[in-house]
Amino acid sequence: MRFEFTPRQNAFRQELRDFLRAEIPGGRGDGGVDQAFSKKLAARDWIGVAWPKEWGGQGLGALEQMIYTEEMITANAPRGYHFTAERQVGPSVIRHGTEEQKREWLPRIVNGEVSFALGLSEPGAGSDLAAAATRAVRDGDDYVVTGQKIWTSNAHLADCIWLVVRTDPDAPKHRGISCLMADLNAPGVTIRPLVDMTNGHHFNEVFFDEVRVPVNRRVGEENSGWYILAEHLDFERSGIERLIDLQYLFLELLEEGKRRAAAGTLTGAQRSALAQTWIEYNVGRLMCYRVAWMQSAGLVPNAEASCAKVYGTEWSQRLMNVAMQVFGMNAAAFLPESAAARMANGYLESKNKTIAGGTSEVQRNIIATRGLGMPRS
Ligand SMILES: Cc1cc2nc3c(=O)[nH]c(=O)nc-3n(C[C@H](O)[C@H](O)[C@H](O)COP(=O)(O)OP(=O)(O)OC[C@H]3O[C@@H](n4cnc5c(N)ncnc54)[C@H](O)[C@@H]3O)c2cc1C
Repeated sequence: MRFEFTPRQNAFRQELRDFLRAEIPGGRGDGGVDQAFSKKLAARDWIGVAWPKEWGGQGLGALEQMIYTEEMITANAPRGYHFTAERQVGPSVIRHGTEEQKREWLPRIVNGEVSFALGLSEPGAGSDLAAAATRAVRDGDDYVVTGQKIWTSNAHLADCIWLVVRTDPDAPKHRGISCLMADLNAPGVTIRPLVDMTNGHHFNEVFFDEVRVPVNRRVGEENSGWYILAEHLDFERSGIERLIDLQYLFLELLEEGKRRAAAGTLTGAQRSALAQTWIEYNVGRLMCYRVAWMQSAGLVPNAEASCAKVYGTEWSQRLMNVAMQVFGMNAAAFLPESAAARMANGYLESKNKTIAGGTSEVQRNIIATRGLGMPRS
């Protein structure tokens, strides 16, 4: 067994690092939505590196895609403009879109010219997405869409939304769903901010009041959206981003731990907890590498992707618990620009990780049934 990346993969990683070091002053960006940055990546053909060359990608594999994501997140690059379109929308259009849709949308995505939000969750449909109630009624060459989405990340900054709608209310719930690509600037769309407990505005409620969406914006057959959606969720859950989002705080915490150890103020329990966190981080990375390797070998990771998602997100929470032990009451003071405040913020942020993209409970159901072959309970 050779447990290492190839020289070409290492060279690709180094090229990305050099670019990010040059482009992001101080080595760490704000992780935000910045079309100008996406355009710089596009100029180097670095949006959709794993897409087929025919559709503007580089035809690289899932391992290269993972290396790319790892470097982007480590630098907290402002990749939010193209990220969802690259990771989920584009691959779904490549697999299920018409030739016309591929010609229209894929170049826009790889050129950093369109951004997407994901309109899946609704107040009554989160874990159970098949319960989606937002209605799309056919009227000539359009669908007329009415309903509400919730927790829609970056909808206030995006151009379009990948929308899960009910097109047949009489069919069994998994069979009456379709996927549309709707314009967020269309008449009848209202976006309201939701402020999270870190005091950040990143997700929203999105209301649709008789919004017209052309039928040629439907991806896949009418009422067969569930199957596209299942793949869509696999794309969303299988990435290394779930593990390494808060890795930068881990590195900062380790430095603080070393300083305190040198000063004799780190307890033995904290020292062990830091070492344990490091072990678990490396286990989590190998899980993510396995998922990417399976994809590169043409296999479909499903329970494996859920394992990596549960482990990576719960690791983030364990990490931030250790940070709270090390920083103690100082973290609660939220002193601006202090390491303690960054840790406290990370602690709050870590809470959403086991919910976003499908909760840990739901992932464990997938692992039990599809991974271990247990009957549904
Ligand atoms: C930071 C963040 C960003 C998000 N961004 C988006 C976005 O961009 N677009 C979007 O559409 N959605 C987004 N979401 C929503 C997210 O996908 C949902 O919150 C998630 O799928 C859970 O759905 P819910 O909140 O409706 O909870 P519910 O489904 O109501 O679940 C409530 C509780 O019941 C448990 N539960 C539910 N069903 C089962 C079951 N079968 N077995 C065991 N336990 C179960 C859950 O684990 C949970 O603990 C985001 C969420 C977060 C936190």
